[in-house]
Amino acid sequence: MERKVRVRFAPSPTGPLHIGGVRTALYNYIFARANGGDMILRIEDTDSHRFVPGAEEYINEALAWLGIGIDEGVREGGAYGPYKQSERRDIYREHVKQLLDNGKAYIAFDTPEELEAARKETPNFQYDASTRGGMSNSLTLGEEETRRRIEAGDQYVVRFLIEPGREVKVNDRIRGEVIINSSILDDKVLYKSADDLPTYHLANIVDDHLMEVSHVIRGEEWLPSAPLHVLLYEAFGWADTMPEFVHLPLLLKPVGNGKLSKRDGDKLGFPVFPLEWHDPKNGETSSGYREQGYLPEAVVNFLALLGWNPGDDSELMTMQQLIDKFSFEHCSKSGAKFDYKKGLWFNHEYLAQKSDEDLAALFMPILEAKGISGFTPEYVAKAVGMVKGRANLVGDLWEQGDFFFKAPETYAEKDVRKRWSEDTPRIMEELIGVLESIDDMTSANAEKIVLDWIASKGYHLGNVMNAFRLAVVGACRGPHMFDITELMPKEEVTARIRKAIATINA
Ligand code: GLU
Repeated sequence: MERKVRVRFAPSPTGPLHIGGVRTALYNYIFARANGGDMILRIEDTDSHRFVPGAEEYINEALAWLGIGIDEGVREGGAYGPYKQSERRDIYREHVKQLLDNGKAYIAFDTPEELEAARKETPNFQYDASTRGGMSNSLTLGEEETRRRIEAGDQYVVRFLIEPGREVKVNDRIRGEVIINSSILDDKVLYKSADDLPTYHLANIVDDHLMEVSHVIRGEEWLPSAPLHVLLYEAFGWADTMPEFVHLPLLLKPVGNGKLSKRDGDKLGFPVFPLEWHDPKNGETSSGYREQGYLPEAVVNFLALLGWNPGDDSELMTMQQLIDKFSFEHCSKSGAKFDYKKGLWFNHEYLAQKSDEDLAALFMPILEAKGISGFTPEYVAKAVGMVKGRANLVGDLWEQGDFFFKAPETYAEKDVRKRWSEDTPRIMEELIGVLESIDDMTSANAEKIVLDWIASKGYHLGNVMNAFRLAVVGACRGPHMFDITELMPKEEVTARIRKAIATINA
């Protein structure tokens, strides 16, 4: 019988979710939806030293912003909870005991100093079959002494007993069969008595099993852990229900070699986090896609194509289209260069597709932050509608359309030199009179009247129109001039021309 698809995104709340983690969450979600499966969000917080307050809330908020829905999780609940590992201590304790009872794991008392000494003595020391016989553990001390030391309150760890010389096979959906020899693995720590918590490996396997996870979809950086995970499944007797592994290609630097890092983003000016993050430890702020003016649907589309292709040349795809087209067969083995410029392009496309009203709603907070008020939503919608084709980010709407909301304070020098001559003030005075005489300021009508006037006077069309634009916009840029003056109150237009006459000549 086909197994029900159940996937999990399992972040550790050690800081803001990195954009690579977001891509992992996205692929899990898309795969779940494509297969009528369940998407689990599990919080892997067993490393108490690395816990960062606010990180879990950040993860929830980021996934919600991007439309990555969760079926089971800390907030959603579900039949397999709790979904936070720090609330599952009893479960892990039981499973550690099971491994100890079956001789698949053992107790080790070695202090940090003893381990350090062993490392000094033996080059490339690894705690394994070749060295464990010389260390302080239940295998060398015997049952009674081990019990005595535990009762005396000595701290210990539980280590996985790895048999050397075995071939370990990891079946990866993207990479195929990966085989390693168990001799290269060390006896990983599975549990620490000091904080009564399991390590990542144990908790991860136990939970994947108990939560009936069918596919483990995660970043390539976890591939080296996979052989150990396979052995753990076997040690528990769960080999039959081992999930399928899917290790996603790394996200690489936009330029040069290596893994994408926060430094690349800082250097080239793009965020590596979905949302802005305020580090509670040092007060530093890291920029986020949301705050930089990206649309969630653009970020989703961009990320989906980092390591996967639809098999045809479609680029713009909604979440539903991604779900319809997704398959692991089109995931690549090699890393995906983080082409942030492509991300901007996606955002540009999605901005242009948005309705003027929706875009205005996104732009309003930017106006408010600039202390600009008093414009109706209809006015803002029309204004952003005229410039949205020139914007990559929501914030670009301000650079492109600021003049709709405030008169120019300065005039672009180069344009003044080229377009504002001695008789311009006189012609502009005349233009004010022409504009005042127009009752119907709709674009085509005003254009006809003004152009007729220019022709009848024999003025230079380009010079007059550019001076007009300079006075209203502050530079020779922006949408069609008569579309601007259709939207703006006529008194505002004429006041700006008067101001330009007074200012530019002085
Ligand atoms: N807690 C691990 C992380 O932070 C989970 C890795 C996995 O998916 O197995 O990514």
